Amino acid sequence: MKILVLNSGSSSLKFQLFDMPQAKVLVKGLAERIGEKTSRFVANDFEVTQPVATHKDALHLLVNYLLDSKQPIIKNTSEIVAVGHRVVHGGNTFMQPTFINDKVKDKIRALFSLAPLHNPANLTGIETAEEIFSDAKQIAVFDTAFHHTIPEENRKYAIPDNFYKSGIQKYGFHGISHQYVSREANKLLGRNDTKLISLHLGNGASATAVLNGKSYDTSMGFGPMNGLIMGTRSGDIDQSIIFYLLDKLNYSSSDIQNILNKQSGMKALAGSNDLRDIETAANQGDKRAELALKMYAGAIKKYIGNYTAQMNGLDALIFTAGIGENSEIVRKLVAHDLNFIGIEIDPNKNQNPKKYQGDITGKNAKVKVFVIPTNEEKEIATQAYQLMS
Ligand code: ADP
Repeated sequence: MKILVLNSGSSSLKFQLFDMPQAKVLVKGLAERIGEKTSRFVANDFEVTQPVATHKDALHLLVNYLLDSKQPIIKNTSEIVAVGHRVVHGGNTFMQPTFINDKVKDKIRALFSLAPLHNPANLTGIETAEEIFSDAKQIAVFDTAFHHTIPEENRKYAIPDNFYKSGIQKYGFHGISHQYVSREANKLLGRNDTKLISLHLGNGASATAVLNGKSYDTSMGFGPMNGLIMGTRSGDIDQSIIFYLLDKLNYSSSDIQNILNKQSGMKALAGSNDLRDIETAANQGDKRAELALKMYAGAIKKYIGNYTAQMNGLDALIFTAGIGENSEIVRKLVAHDLNFIGIEIDPNKNQNPKKYQGDITGKNAKVKVFVIPTNEEKEIATQAYQLMS
């Protein structure tokens, strides 16, 4: 069964075509800078730089590639029986992968105010796919859905109840990734009754406590700015700062939004949002970069302590996404001085986790430490396949 997975951003479209249930990747690629003259389309080893005006043009390029590449991957678009879409915000409405119809699209639209950068782009992807793959079932998989199991004591903020009733609560994000890597970790542990902490460390970053396979708490909240220090987002700050900026320093609400979302985090601390630059600077003795790395790892450690206490123990710590999968130094700094809760990593294994199937646990450790590459597209294809079945 061929399932296409789309992850649609405002100016990009990432795609993978899977043959399910083996999850064999038939095509992988993306269109980026859609709407600009320098847009680029890549599918497997095929690449063109040409203006791609809209998401629809990008999907047409994909269809042409599927039908006309040297060895056509499909003979007819109707071979694609389902298109799985990553949708960032499912609010309190969507807890499961969902077949898309007009009502579902209306509800995704109603959630625009909660995810103004993402849900509109996701809906564009859906509407374009409906036109081009009109025989296929369209399926939405929500990034918030995995977190719907977070118990009320972790979901609710201590503010007047009318706000909670109107939907102001913790939603959490990166759920597709946390779900994928925590399931992989449970496979490695050989059981599901486990206490895990999943660290998704990419440009955006979040930590999730996963208890018995279910999300129990997560560091992002109502929106994706709080929790860990990120590439350009502040993570947790004192709310008073916002009112001080607003009332005393006369910044507007959109200025503050921009500062906390785009000008903060590692960019503010060390001058770059790319962790590789910061590591290079720190290796050359740059004090700002060293402090930034210390703060970055420190923020993660605070959540490890928090979640280990909440779950009364820990079986495994998981590192994933660009930084979690690739940064030896971040993993080392995070695991440093956590032996009191049984976390210790093997420095040699930490240099090359792949060689050890991602298990970088130290000799005397009580808690497993895994580096597990995330695969959100495979998770979406798997969930879409299960729904189709
Ligand atoms: P996104 O959230 O955009 O999907 P990624 O998961 O790709 O982001 O993560 C991007 C981050 O991963 C960047 O900060 C980048 O510097 C970092 N990264 C990628 N490769 C490495 C590496 N080899 N060493 C350290 N950091 C890396």
